[in-house]
Parts: sequence; structure tokens; C-alpha cells
Amino acid sequence: MQSMISTDAKREWAASWLSTDKKLYIGGQWVDSEGGDVEESINPATGKIIGKLINASEKDVDRAVAAARGAHEKAEFRRMPRRERAKVLRRIAEAIDKYRAELATLETLDNGKLYSEAYQDDLPETAEVFEYYAGWTDKFYSDNVPVDDGFINYTVREPVGVCGLIVPWNFPLLLAAWKMAPALAMANTIVVKPSPFTSLSMIRLFEILSEEVDLPAGVINLITGGASTGQALCEHRGVNKVSFTGSTATGKHVVRSSADSNLKSVSLELGGKSPNIIFDDVPDLEFAIERSYYAMFCHKGEKCSEPTRLFVHKNHYDRFVSEMAKRADAVVCGDPFDPTSTQGAQCNDEQLKKILRYISIGKEEGAKLIAGGERDTKGSNANGYFVRPTVFADVDNKMKIAQDEIFGPVLAVIPFSDEDHVVEMANDSMYGLAAGLWTRDISRAHRVAGRLDAGMVFINRYGCYDFASPFGGFKESGWGKDMAIQSLDAYTKLKSIWVKL
Ligand code: NAD
Repeated sequence: MQSMISTDAKREWAASWLSTDKKLYIGGQWVDSEGGDVEESINPATGKIIGKLINASEKDVDRAVAAARGAHEKAEFRRMPRRERAKVLRRIAEAIDKYRAELATLETLDNGKLYSEAYQDDLPETAEVFEYYAGWTDKFYSDNVPVDDGFINYTVREPVGVCGLIVPWNFPLLLAAWKMAPALAMANTIVVKPSPFTSLSMIRLFEILSEEVDLPAGVINLITGGASTGQALCEHRGVNKVSFTGSTATGKHVVRSSADSNLKSVSLELGGKSPNIIFDDVPDLEFAIERSYYAMFCHKGEKCSEPTRLFVHKNHYDRFVSEMAKRADAVVCGDPFDPTSTQGAQCNDEQLKKILRYISIGKEEGAKLIAGGERDTKGSNANGYFVRPTVFADVDNKMKIAQDEIFGPVLAVIPFSDEDHVVEMANDSMYGLAAGLWTRDISRAHRVAGRLDAGMVFINRYGCYDFASPFGGFKESGWGKDMAIQSLDAYTKLKSIWVKL
């Protein structure tokens, strides 16, 4: 399907693809489930069932892990010359690019995000992350360690082995690619488990890879399903590593599963409630307003690192509050394929209810609702999961709407006047994923960046990303980093070898 194809043609292609039964990809083949049941996939923009997926059983998980284990032990992929492995990763990137429109169509149908967001943000980055890690296959050196005379000591990096990759529904392909690309670059074998809310694009990606990329059987495996499938993967003794992105509550289950089985290594990218601090001397007020709004509300506020707590100095407070409200009021919620829509549907019914519940809590807590605050059911949105972008002003950082992760388009605006106080409030959170600050004062910029207890700090532009820069949080936002060279540590084990001369 070509990129410039009409919306009707996209829908027609998707309807035809969705009409066939979906299977699991294990050991290089599409296979039926053994004992798993069937789950429905729903289009959040219409509330209608669009496809059926397998909810993989424990036995299916066992088969997928056995296939990945077999491929790891056969070591065909591990022994492939490094530059050949790099070519495999580049071919994956090319294949994603070639089928960009199809994959973006499925992402939109299943997740509810705007087609423009899926096509322009998610898909190019999904391809690029494979390109980036292709470059690492022959560059991740080990050390020759300076030890006492009479000995040589050196380290080698080995693949971890079988990696279980579990991802959420907000960026279904992209967040999986953040894990698949470094895992494959370091010659591991993988079992991918997407979210049951958004598995369609991953199924299509595996179809594409099976047709376009020559990988030894068992190197990549796909199991669909929900919590029980994920838990079976985390508890499996044949899995050496789980890389998990999702909520903090589930992350804690993942750790327990690892502890109760084989102490497999675990990486966790979890929730967030990130602060964004506008100081009195913000360098470019208009840009700060524009960017703070966009970083919060793009992808309908379903982003782990979005700046959900906006701390504004009292001198700019009224202006910020009115500009946030003006932008929120202008949003058009609607069919994500329609280019006139500016916000899509929340991903699922559970999420819709959670967001609406928090909006009620915010009102009860006494925060001042200045925009949104309700479901959008106008016209063809009637059965979709649309929520008006919502802005609460005069929020107290102790309120639940400022402490709990809502994971939707709900912004809490909090006034401040003092640097120490705002840093204290910003750090008063169980989360520590990201933080932003805006100031002209170079000393303050570095001083406050150093005091913010967050894994990523953005100065004078909220939200900067690059595959070369580590992504991940502190506190209950997770362990370890995705992307960059740090991710390669997570997918290798370091061995120290001694020689007596
Ligand atoms: P979730 O925790 O409900 O589910 C995530 C994945 O875990 C899904 O594939 C799910 O099926 C699986 N799962 C559920 N129970 C499991 C269990 N007991 N054992 C193993 N796997 C299990 O999260 P979600 O609702 O899909 O996603 C939203 C959450 O993800 C938010 O909290 C958000 O902040 C977080 N997130 C974090 C990052 C990050 O990089 N830090 C990025 C995106 C999303």
C-alpha cells in the first residue's frame, strides 16, 4: 500500500487484512494456539470490534521460549558475522519503511491516535531505531583490564540469551522497537508480547519480517495475549531477561515473577508524573507556551514522560492558564484518519473510565476546571473513547490529580514563586521519569537540573529525544535505560577472563 493512498483505500486494505484469523509466530512459523482463548480488538474511535487475537496460553509461551532457546543454542544468528547482522537490522528498517502506511493504518485503528501521528512520528522512528542499532553490532568493545604483572585480564560481552519483551499500548511498535533493535544487535533471541489492546501492528510487522528479512527460525517470536500471558513469560525459567515497559504496578509484578523463578534480569520503564517548571525569566514565553501544551497533549496525553504537572511562576501564571485553556478549547476530537481532527480517541474503554474518574476527583478536590472536563460524544464520536483536553488550574501538588498517573489529556497547573519551593514540589512524587525547566539564568538552569530527581531533564524545551541519549527514570519510574549505548549493557552479560602468564 502506497503512502499517499486515500483513507477509504486504507480502511479497505485493513478490513481485508483483519478478516483473516491471526496466529502466533513461533520458531519461524505462524501457528495456532494450544489452549489459548480469543480476545477481541476494538477500534477506540468507534467502539466496534475490528479483529480477533489469540490470548496465548502457558503452553504457547513454553513453545515460544523453547523456540527462542533452540535458536540461541544453535547460535546461527550469534555466529553470523557482525556486519551481516547489521545488514539484517537495516533490512528490518527498510521493511518498516516500505510498509509504513499499512503499519500506521493498523496503529491508528487499534490505538486511536491520529493517523498523522502514527505515520509521521511512530513509524519513521520505529525504522530509525533499527538503523541506529545496526551501527552498534561491531562497535560495542570490551576492556583489557590493567591488573598486576603476570596476568592478563580482559572482559567479553555475550548475549544474555532469551529475552522477553513486554510492551504497552501507547506506542505499540515504537516501544517494542526500542527493545527489539538492541536485543537483536547484541545477537539475542526474542519473544515479543505486545499489549492485547494494540497487537495488530506487531502481527503485521512479523508477517512483513517473515517475508522480507532472512532471520534464522526462532530468533524472533511473537505471542499475543494479556496479563496471564505476560506473567507466564516473566515466570518462565527458560527466559534470561525481561525488558518491560508499562505501569509501575505491573512492573512490581514483573520483579516478583523474576524473584520467584530464576532471578532473570529485569529492565523496567514505568509510569511518570513529570513536572515542567516555568521560571520568571523564561527565555521565550511564546515558545514555552506552545511547547508545554504540545508536549502534554500530543498523542492524546498517553505518554509516560509527558509534563502533566505544569509549575508556573506567579508572574506568568494567568497568561499560561488562559493560553492552555484557549488551545484545549480549540481541539477537534474526531476520526483519527480525518485530517481536520486534532486529537484522536483514548486507547481503550478502561482508560476512558480512568480518565473520567480522575476528572471527577479533580473537581471534588477543589481544583479549578478551566477547559475540557468531559467526554466528547458529538456526532460520529458518540461511541468512541474521546475525552476533551482538560486543564485544571490552582492545583495543589498534594492533590491526587497531581500525584497519580492519569495517562490521559489532563493537565494540572500549579503556581509558585520560590525556587526552593518549586523544586521541593517537583520532587514530591513517587515518580522520577522526566522534568523540564525554563530559565535564561545559566546557573539556575544547571543548579535546578542537578536537584531534580528525574532520569531526564529538559532545559528550555520540554521533550528532546535521540537514540544516542538514554531514556528512563528514577524512583518508581523504573530501572535501567532504553536506547543509547546503555541499552546494550542490558542485552549483554559481561564476562571477566583471567590468564596467568
Ligand atoms: P500495563 O502495565 O497494564 O501493561 C503493560 C504490558 O504488561 C502489557 O503488554 C500487559 O499485557 C502486560 N502485563 C500485564 N500484567 C502483567 C503481568 N502480571 N506480568 C507481565 N506482564 C503483564 O501498562 P499499560 O496500561 O499497557 O501502559 C500504560 C503504562 O505504561 C503507563 O503507566 C505508562 O506510564 C507506562 N509507560 C512507560 C514508558 C516508559 O518508557 N517509562 C513508556 C510508555 C508507557
